[in-house]
Amino acid sequence: MFEDLREYAKENKVPIIRDEGLDFLLSSISKHNVKTCLEVGTAIGYSAIRMASLGVYVTTLERDQNAYDQAIKNIKNYNLENKIEPVLIDALEYTPSKKYDLIFIDAAKAQNKKFFLRFTPFLNDLGIVIVDNLNFHGLTNENPEDIKSKNLRSLVKKINEFKEWLKLQENFNTTFTDSGDGMSISIKL
Ligand code: SAH
Ligand code: MG
Repeated sequence: MFEDLREYAKENKVPIIRDEGLDFLLSSISKHNVKTCLEVGTAIGYSAIRMASLGVYVTTLERDQNAYDQAIKNIKNYNLENKIEPVLIDALEYTPSKKYDLIFIDAAKAQNKKFFLRFTPFLNDLGIVIVDNLNFHGLTNENPEDIKSKNLRSLVKKINEFKEWLKLQENFNTTFTDSGDGMSISIKL
């Protein structure tokens, strides 16, 4: 199960969640009794399919038409059309119509704070927010001057600023893990 998706992602350089990060995501879902998830960043539907296979109802947002089409195909193949609602939209223009137990943020890495602010009003009591790729391939722990590309340097700076900002949010109790590519989990207080 699921090897076809991992294989496709590898061949087409689609940045799906790493195995270790997925373990963290799925065990958090069990631990916090998550029944519904809003996912920001579908790509080919891999993480949505893995969550829905545990019984979670997932609304997932994707702005790229090709990725969205691929996700639709994969969701059909896995017979999860009744568990996953894919939406083709820029997440910054999407307003949820209900509340969720989990918000999983895994889209444009410079926009984490915007996604967090936009979607946390739609979190149920005792809900959680998980953000992926906070180590950004280990680059967030490097000396910024060692990162040669200017765009990359500014992205890494933004991710680090987001982490600091997240720690200061008093309505959430946030912890970080190095699992996968680095993730945060914020529990709504
Ligand atoms: N969650 C997926 C991987 C997502 S990769 C998995 O682990 O299987 C990130 C995806 O977010 C890309 O497909 C990209 O097109 C999408 N994305 C980036 N910014 C977005 C935005 N503002 N709105 C919607 N999708 C976005
Ligand atoms: Mg990711």
